[in-house]
Amino acid sequence: MMQINKKISKQFFGIIKQSKTIFITGHARPDGDTIGSSLALRYVLKKIGKQSVDIVMKERFMDCYNFLPDVDKISFSDKIGKKYDLAIILECSDISRIGFELNFNRFKKIINIDHHQNRRNVIGKDWLNIIYPRSASCAEIIFDMLENEKIEIDKNVALCLYVGIVTDTGKFQWSNTNSHVFNTSAKLLKYGLNTFYIYKKIYGSKSLESIRLLSAVLQTLEVKKVGKYNVSYIIATNKMFEDTNTTANDTEEFINFALSVRGVNIAIFFREEKCGNVKISFRSDSVDVRKIAHKLNGGGHKYASGATVSGNLVSVKEKVLRYIGRIK
Ligand code: 5GP
Ligand code: MN
Repeated sequence: MMQINKKISKQFFGIIKQSKTIFITGHARPDGDTIGSSLALRYVLKKIGKQSVDIVMKERFMDCYNFLPDVDKISFSDKIGKKYDLAIILECSDISRIGFELNFNRFKKIINIDHHQNRRNVIGKDWLNIIYPRSASCAEIIFDMLENEKIEIDKNVALCLYVGIVTDTGKFQWSNTNSHVFNTSAKLLKYGLNTFYIYKKIYGSKSLESIRLLSAVLQTLEVKKVGKYNVSYIIATNKMFEDTNTTANDTEEFINFALSVRGVNIAIFFREEKCGNVKISFRSDSVDVRKIAHKLNGGGHKYASGATVSGNLVSVKEKVLRYIGRIK
């Protein structure tokens, strides 16, 4: 079962063939899929003879991804000084998700690869848009295109793509986990990947500080009936980050504790940011939380979405709960 058709794959590699200098970027606070997919692409592009491939992200990511091959080739910046023949933008359902201003005139061609439901008008008319909301990860989209074009991969590429799949399906647990996820993973494992080693690196090597932060955040857990729903929420304040010497990168997965409370329909994580914004994560196993995120100018998936709102924690929390209370 292939999700990506041959025509798109041909167009994708056709543009790549015409391009000498290539720029790859993904969303701010890069996750396993963004990192894995960019590194896999870079590997493949290098292998087919592209000398100049730069991956640029706005922010550093969690240390747990440092075991990925060539991860040190990713650079971090919020400015692009150079011009490129091609920009490949991964996982940005909203152009503001890139986190820095992209001057599209710097690129002769733009390819947009994403598996989020696109809401904002981020699709340039003359871009190649490879948008498959049914795919659980960008890594699978890339794998399908490589397979379609019969481009050989190696263990490094397989590892990077597998990490994209594992992280974007919550270790094969979330509702986006389908047969394509398992089929692709099975093909990748044949390159000799050690699944336990990968699991340990990503999920089983936490810093003591991050567990202390988890402890502080879980103290804030509340469960309330709001309108029709049982809502649980947790909060991370700037002070908690300071006290435990941690950053937002240490909060991955925290929200799942809030969602795991029996009877809860909607889980929310409010995270204070130094600049005065509040980053909000929504999770649910039955309610379309993307609709709530949209109301706050955010986005994401049906059961996992987020938004960034300016204002203090208390007012943002009240505002969000009010929205939920009004859902009919
Ligand atoms: P998380 O809660 O892990 O930060 O994000 C879950 C999903 O929600 C992400 O995959 C992403 O699609 C979406 N998301 C999170 N934050 C934002 C945001 O500020 N804006 C938009 N448009 N989407 C977001
Ligand atoms: Mn993804």
